[in-house]
Amino acid sequence: QLLHAPEPGLVISRFGQHVDVEDNQGQIIRCNMRRTISSVVTGDKVSWCRSKQPTGSIDGVIEAVEERSSVLLRPDFYDGLKPVAANIDLMIIVSAILPALSLNIIDRYLVAAEMTGIKPLLVINKADLLDSTAQNALEQQLELYRQLDYPCLLVSARSGQGMTALLQYIHSGTSIFVGQSGVGKSSLMNNLMPELAAATQEVSAISGLGQHTTTVSRLYHLPNGGELIDSPGIREFALWHLSAEEVTQGFIEFRPWLGRCKFRDCKHISDPGCAIQHAVAEGAIRPERYDSYLKILTSMAQDKPNHF
Ligand code: GDP
Ligand code: ZN
Repeated sequence: QLLHAPEPGLVISRFGQHVDVEDNQGQIIRCNMRRTISSVVTGDKVSWCRSKQPTGSIDGVIEAVEERSSVLLRPDFYDGLKPVAANIDLMIIVSAILPALSLNIIDRYLVAAEMTGIKPLLVINKADLLDSTAQNALEQQLELYRQLDYPCLLVSARSGQGMTALLQYIHSGTSIFVGQSGVGKSSLMNNLMPELAAATQEVSAISGLGQHTTTVSRLYHLPNGGELIDSPGIREFALWHLSAEEVTQGFIEFRPWLGRCKFRDCKHISDPGCAIQHAVAEGAIRPERYDSYLKILTSMAQDKPNHF
């Protein structure tokens, strides 16, 4: 196979050994990979070579993958932890009024964001279902996160409320929506990008993979700037790959207290002389967050290594 000189590209999606790479002109070229490359995922920046005799099927070869600024991992039954998307700047953690808001799930995603180095944004969807009393109660709950400098937005994919504010966060950089099923991630993405639904159908027609494409990560360019990675496999991901120590680190307000416990191997649960428990008692750490921390530790101990 005769090849042109290497050029930069962006990985849009991957199907097995085939990778759709976007060139600088926005054209998509289906490539395969040099054997030496161990992993290519959606969002990767690559160096690739165009074939000199394009056939319309596999018309390029990926030569190298640039270092990633961030990577999201998913546990794989055979491979252990598997990267599924790279170079994500913003993790949009979607919750909703219905099903009821779970602070514990929000905290799990926040830990994941902290430990992957991706900036989190808390988005509470279905604001259209709130009356003013319920809205006040919700704002009080969100205060917990605003105090920790986590940005929070109240939005509605249905009424459009808050969508302009959401756009402010995503018009530059690469974002991903995560959150439990039913909170409205697809609705929000479709609202931001009306072509998304159509494009998804198109991809499954072209690839002939039908159903399976719903598990493939894909990168989309938003009409007003910014990129969105839709990664069904990672939407409800969690903390399986973190150790208890990393979960502790993931609670940012715990950090100033770490290393001040009486015992070096303090688990911060019921250990004597624990600085974290002391901070909770003094009101420096909110009890809601500490309870959430204990819940996560308990569930990790029970579920590892298969679930979160
Ligand atoms: P996903 O599983 O997170 O992708 O959630 P979907 O986008 O599929 O939405 C789940 C359900 O919530 C659907 O029945 C939507 O119509 C509904 N839904 C989504 N956004 C809103 C909203 O802003 N307000 C209301 N009332 N319902 C919504
Ligand atoms: Zn401690």
